[in-house]
Amino acid sequence: MSELELPEDHPRYQSLLTRHRIEQGVENGITSKQGLIAEGRGEAFDYLLGERTIETAALAERAGAARLLLADQPVLSVNGNVAALVASEIVALAEAVDADLEVNLFNRTPERMEAIAAHLREHGAEEVKGLTADGRIPNLSHERAKVDAEGIAAADVVLVPLEDGDRAEALGEMGKTEIVIDLNPLSRSAQVAAIPIVDNIIRAVPNMTEHALELQTADDPTLQDIVDAFDPKAALTAAEAAIRDGELD
Ligand code: ATP
Repeated sequence: MSELELPEDHPRYQSLLTRHRIEQGVENGITSKQGLIAEGRGEAFDYLLGERTIETAALAERAGAARLLLADQPVLSVNGNVAALVASEIVALAEAVDADLEVNLFNRTPERMEAIAAHLREHGAEEVKGLTADGRIPNLSHERAKVDAEGIAAADVVLVPLEDGDRAEALGEMGKTEIVIDLNPLSRSAQVAAIPIVDNIIRAVPNMTEHALELQTADDPTLQDIVDAFDPKAALTAAEAAIRDGELD
């Protein structure tokens, strides 16, 4: 079935669309098999959240957009699931906040790196970083540590969606400000983030772009106020409560 044939009035349309994109990602050599498992984990959390952007996630998305606009050198990290799910949307966010895109894989192979970079270019990206791999994240084994010296290694703020906990921790230790998109509020990635966004990436990224476009002309103190008003611990607690106690329709 193609994306266009998915019935939009299906009560679980969003989840069908997500699965379809991930399946296609695997077929096209963009997403790894482990990516399918990560998708399943995410879907379970999203189901319990009611497949909606909860209030604290909306605040996190606005704070994340403001933080990216304030950054000197922001980078949006892209893995196989991100590329399969939100290629054109992440390109639009990069444009809105003037950030670099860097392909950054847990299971790094040259073929998958190239396939993801090509996929992003097909969706409008002009420059895609990650292929040079002349920088390293300290305290990680060789393949998992590779980044671009001019990209993530030099960034002050990094958006790391659907990231493995070890790497999120290591990036934090490098002094990066991390904005994490992860549907599991208990994952280490979400826990170490300055701004954890507990929402499905297919909703989170377009929401962040909308905020960024609206905030593009705001001055730095206004942006800083939005960032300072966001409380990561409270947001994680609220997301966990929504998942544990939420009423399903
Ligand atoms: P950690 O190492 O941080 O404890 P983990 O081992 O669960 O996390 P992975 O298996 O790599 O990490 O999974 C990535 C994370 O991405 C999972 O927490 C999953 O819930 C989340 N996730 C998967 N799909 C989506 C999605 N579409 N939107 C947002 N988050 C997602």
